[in-house]
Amino acid sequence: MSSQRHDKEKAVNVQVLLRCRPFSEDEVRNNAPLVVTCNEFQREVAVTQTIAGKQIDRVFTFDKVFGPSAQQKDLYDQAVIPIVNEVLEGFNCTIFAYGQTGTGKTYTMEGECKRSKSGPNGQLPPDAGVIPRAVKQIFDTLESQNAEYSVKVTFLELYNEEITDLLAPEELSKLVLEEKQKKPLPLMEDGKGGVLVRGLEEEIVTSAGEIFSLLERGSAKRRTAETLLNKQSSRSHSLFSITIHIKEATPEGEELIKCGKLNLVDLAGSENISRSGAREGRAREAGEINKSLLTLGRVITALVEHLGHIPYRDSKLTRLLRDSLGGKTKTCIIATVSPSVYCLEETLSTLDYAHRAKNIKNRPEVNQKMMKSTLIKDLYGEIDRLKAEVYAAREKVGVYIPKERYQQEEAERKGMADQIEQMNAMLETNQKQISELQEKYNAQVQQCSDLSKKLAATEKSLEHTSKMLGTTKEELKHTQYVLKEKEFIIAEQRKAENALAHQACVLRSDLEKSIHDNASLHSKIDREDQLSAANRSIVNNFQADLEDKIRTLCSTVSSFIARQKEQLESVEEICKACIEYQDKSSMELAEKVSASRALYISHVETIQNVVRLHKANTDGSLDQMSSLISANSCSLEEVLTSGEKMGDQLVGDIQGMLSAHRGEITCFAEELRDRFQKGMEQSKDMSDFVLGFLNRLGDKAQTFYDHMNLMHGAQGKHITDFQKAFELLAEVTSLVSGHMSRQMELVSGRLNGLEVAAVENKAVLDAHTSSLKGITNDAKRKWEQLSVRADNDSRESADFSAAKHCRMEVMLQKCVDAVGVASEHWKDTNTSVKDISSRHVSTMEKMIRATTESNEQHDLEIASTRHVAEEEVANSSEDILSHFASVSEHGRESSSRIIAAVEIHRGLLENLHEDHASGASKIEQQSENTFQERYQTPVKSEPDLPSKGTIESLRARPMEALLEEFWENHPREAAGKDAKSTAIPRCPLIQLN
Ligand code: ADP
Ligand code: MG
Repeated sequence: MSSQRHDKEKAVNVQVLLRCRPFSEDEVRNNAPLVVTCNEFQREVAVTQTIAGKQIDRVFTFDKVFGPSAQQKDLYDQAVIPIVNEVLEGFNCTIFAYGQTGTGKTYTMEGECKRSKSGPNGQLPPDAGVIPRAVKQIFDTLESQNAEYSVKVTFLELYNEEITDLLAPEELSKLVLEEKQKKPLPLMEDGKGGVLVRGLEEEIVTSAGEIFSLLERGSAKRRTAETLLNKQSSRSHSLFSITIHIKEATPEGEELIKCGKLNLVDLAGSENISRSGAREGRAREAGEINKSLLTLGRVITALVEHLGHIPYRDSKLTRLLRDSLGGKTKTCIIATVSPSVYCLEETLSTLDYAHRAKNIKNRPEVNQKMMKSTLIKDLYGEIDRLKAEVYAAREKVGVYIPKERYQQEEAERKGMADQIEQMNAMLETNQKQISELQEKYNAQVQQCSDLSKKLAATEKSLEHTSKMLGTTKEELKHTQYVLKEKEFIIAEQRKAENALAHQACVLRSDLEKSIHDNASLHSKIDREDQLSAANRSIVNNFQADLEDKIRTLCSTVSSFIARQKEQLESVEEICKACIEYQDKSSMELAEKVSASRALYISHVETIQNVVRLHKANTDGSLDQMSSLISANSCSLEEVLTSGEKMGDQLVGDIQGMLSAHRGEITCFAEELRDRFQKGMEQSKDMSDFVLGFLNRLGDKAQTFYDHMNLMHGAQGKHITDFQKAFELLAEVTSLVSGHMSRQMELVSGRLNGLEVAAVENKAVLDAHTSSLKGITNDAKRKWEQLSVRADNDSRESADFSAAKHCRMEVMLQKCVDAVGVASEHWKDTNTSVKDISSRHVSTMEKMIRATTESNEQHDLEIASTRHVAEEEVANSSEDILSHFASVSEHGRESSSRIIAAVEIHRGLLENLHEDHASGASKIEQQSENTFQERYQTPVKSEPDLPSKGTIESLRARPMEALLEEFWENHPREAAGKDAKSTAIPRCPLIQLN
């Protein structure tokens, strides 16, 4: 627990949160571009700027970032709950809201917190800000702990560097209230390094619910003024403080009071630092606001840059919040920005400001717990002080000074206090500088003593070194002489060495050459040895092979000769056997030839017999054929006669039918003619009737016309009569009244109309009757034409049918003629068929006769041929036999010749055998001679060696001679004389030291 506390008392950076509000309705309406993007997870805010057409992103990192979508509850839960918990543990904590007007400072701190909006069971509305939520958390926690506690709140406003109590009681009269409101409260030192506001109302709160009325009260009193940015913008700072006292009992039974304080500050709009947007009358206001905010900025700068003097005292705001900035209070700044491009400049300055404030370090300390008794004592003290004040006020005892002087003194005092503070700060820095300088001085002194020690040591070593130098010089001289001596010897020896080396090199190269020659020679010899061994073996092999081959050749030759001999013998035998066989076979052949002759003759005889039989057969069949032909011709004749009869009959029938047809057709033509006649008569009747009718119609029309004329005349007469009668009447009556004249006029008009109508009627009727007449005349004419044409037509038809009839007659006649011709033709055909058949029969008979004759001829021919063949066979067989005999004679002769040749061949073979054996032995000998003697010897090379004398001449002269020569040439100097004795006995190459 204590270590934890210890940890907490270490330096802690001011926590800086950033909140970006959503677009306001105005901005949405104006389509304001978005320039601020919040990354809540990486706690980064990026601001997009376009400078000279280039887009530049600036990114700031904070302890926490809340984007436009973050709700009041999110911010409170994540950022404020831990702070309130620390307050409950006894720390003092401050939360600032910093930002441009209209970015949501008041919204964040107070929120839209109306009691009417709160939910049941004292739940807060979602828009409630940090203040109501903190109060609620405090009460909830304390009540759940069942602790004894008291909670006091104050709410003040700082405006124009004047402090106003926002919770001042209202029961005073309005006038007094206004006076009191205007009267600024003084800020006083509390004597413990802190400040207190004299006469500030401390409201004791007993439940979370009371917070609403407090806030409402406070907000109502807050002064707001119109600026360019926002109508409701607050140009004042407000400070809401909650002080908690919690009673704790120690294990010893003592009662302690734990005290914690939470300051919630809603600063004026940050634009007031950079921009004085206020007009005329508010110049001072702006200046004063600037003062507080500017001082806050300077304090932050001083704290961040660790400057010696921190100008807390330059404004009331910084005095009030002194402890929260670089003091013992835990501090959190909530910077608020707008996302729109219109506020870009101010947003960037807010971000810079807030980012800088991150580097302020506080050392939070838990407030000392007070004994209850001490607290009571303090309170008693307070009571006493107040009592004294009251008493002084009432009794008017105490010090009285004029107000101006008091103010002057107060101002002086203030100035002095400031000076003292500044001097204190300077003193502190000066002291720091002095201690630093002291440290530097000490270090220098230390360095100095070290250096003097080093100097002494160095002097000593110098002395020693100079002594050494003297002896060393002596030694050097001596050494130089010895060196020269040695150099001479070495030069001489080097010469000899060089010559030797050169010689050695020459020798070496010779040696290398000869070694190389040797090696190549050896390898050559080796190769040759190998080659000759290989050759030897090949030759040996070849020789053995050759001998072998010759031997086998000899054996094959001898075996061949033996075989040849055998074969010759067998040839002889075969020849003999052949001769024997030939003899035997010639005898057999003669027998066979005579047998085959006999066989041939018998065969020829049989052939003749067969021919005869064939002839007989042919004769029989020819007879049969001739009888058959004659029968055939008879039956054909019969058939033809019956066919003729039938044809005649048929023709007769056809002719009968044709005559019947003709009769029929004439009947038909007659009938047709009659019918035509009748039709013509009928049409004539018809036309007569129609003509009569038409005439009658014309007559009737005429009578109608006459009648009509008559009628018309009568009508006209009637009308004139009526007119006359009426005129008569009218004349009578016209005298009676003029009325009648009018009547008469009317009637006469009417009569005239009637007359006119009658005339018109007549004209119409006339026209009609005339047209009727015309029509009937036309019809009559037409009908007459028609009847004439019908008459003509019927006459034409009759003529046509008569012509047709004539043609049919002609055709029938043709048919009859054709039938006659056909029957004639049929008869002709019959006779020609008969002729052909008789001719055929006669040719057949002729052919048969010829065949029998040729058969006989054949028979005769065969008999004669037989004779000839028999004779020829006998001749040829004799020929064969004689030829065969000559052939066998020839064979015998040739076989005896073969035998003789075989004998000669055998002698030749014997000779060959002998020659071959001698040749083979010769080859063998020759090969042995050739292969056993043929070898060569390699040639040797002689190296030229240098003689021993020449090599000896290269040796260097003896050392003594050399030294003597050196001494002669280099007489020794006085300084080096005594060194001579030491120089001689030493070997030249022994090291000096
Ligand atoms: P300031 O106190 O910084 O001048 P206000 O707190 O008066 O700004 O806010 C100005 C307007 O913006 C108010 O109407 C408020 O309701 C609204 N507002 C500010 N921040 C938010 C937010 N985070 N969410 C919703 N509305 C907000
Ligand atoms: Mg505000």
